[in-house]
Amino acid sequence: MTSTSLITGASSGLGTEYARRLARRGDRLVLVARDAARLEQLAAELTREGAVDVEVLSADLTCFEGIAAVTSRLTDPARPVATLINSAGFGLPLAFETNDIEDEVRHLRLHDEVPMRLMHAVLPSMLARRSGTILNIASASAVMPRSTYAACKAWLVMFSRWANAQYASRGVIVTAVCPGYTHTDFHARLGLPKGEEGIPNWLWLEAPRVVTESLRDVERGKAVSVPSRRYRAIWTLAQLAPSGLMARLAERGR
Ligand code: NAP
Repeated sequence: MTSTSLITGASSGLGTEYARRLARRGDRLVLVARDAARLEQLAAELTREGAVDVEVLSADLTCFEGIAAVTSRLTDPARPVATLINSAGFGLPLAFETNDIEDEVRHLRLHDEVPMRLMHAVLPSMLARRSGTILNIASASAVMPRSTYAACKAWLVMFSRWANAQYASRGVIVTAVCPGYTHTDFHARLGLPKGEEGIPNWLWLEAPRVVTESLRDVERGKAVSVPSRRYRAIWTLAQLAPSGLMARLAERGR
């Protein structure tokens, strides 16, 4: 039977790449983001390429109405969702003290409260069917002291680890995906054009690779997926290195 995947942040970057990959796998899709035109364009492209069924759900996930619309889709008993991918996100300048506090609150909501609410909505039906997959797109920065972004992602990793341990035996796999720097719209949206992010070339990943490796890790039931050997090495070393050194390294790049 064809299963349905709901992807937040599907209008761009990693979310778009997951949508392409899961459409090729034969899933029905629900694409969520604010930019309805971009979602419709992607839906049309995927349909031309043979996607079974693509639904567009335009929603601002930092607003109550947006969260309610997606929650309602996730809890519709007539159209169960087998895979939830929480990819919506954005970055802020690292200088917390000068950031607008309301921007910080929206940032915290989108990275942590929204995945938590969407998981809470979808889990009962997944557990009743003893089958489901949840991917929470966190970040390799979750092991670094790096402003509120890394702190939000660290919360998401720990929550996913707990949820995977709790629910895997009941048929639901929860995986925190922790990519390093990946070419998407993320940095341009932060006002950093391609090539001006202050990050060496060898640290960049491409979205298709992140998606391939993370889906392979999900198949294996892993709680945490860190795509690429180089970022797995960084992930391990970061947890062993002295905290002062990590704080200095974490100040680099954006
Ligand atoms: P991206 O290309 O900028 O995509 C971000 C997506 O989030 C877009 O589809 C955007 O769509 C959506 N979004 C932003 N605000 C939203 C809101 N209020 N409501 C609903 N959707 C919203 O960036 P990306 O790199 O693919 O980011 C995906 C995830 O990967 C994020 O959680 C990010 O933190 C994480 N990540 C990225 C990198 C990297 O280097 N790129 C590294 C590690 C982790 P609309 O604007 O249409 O709403």
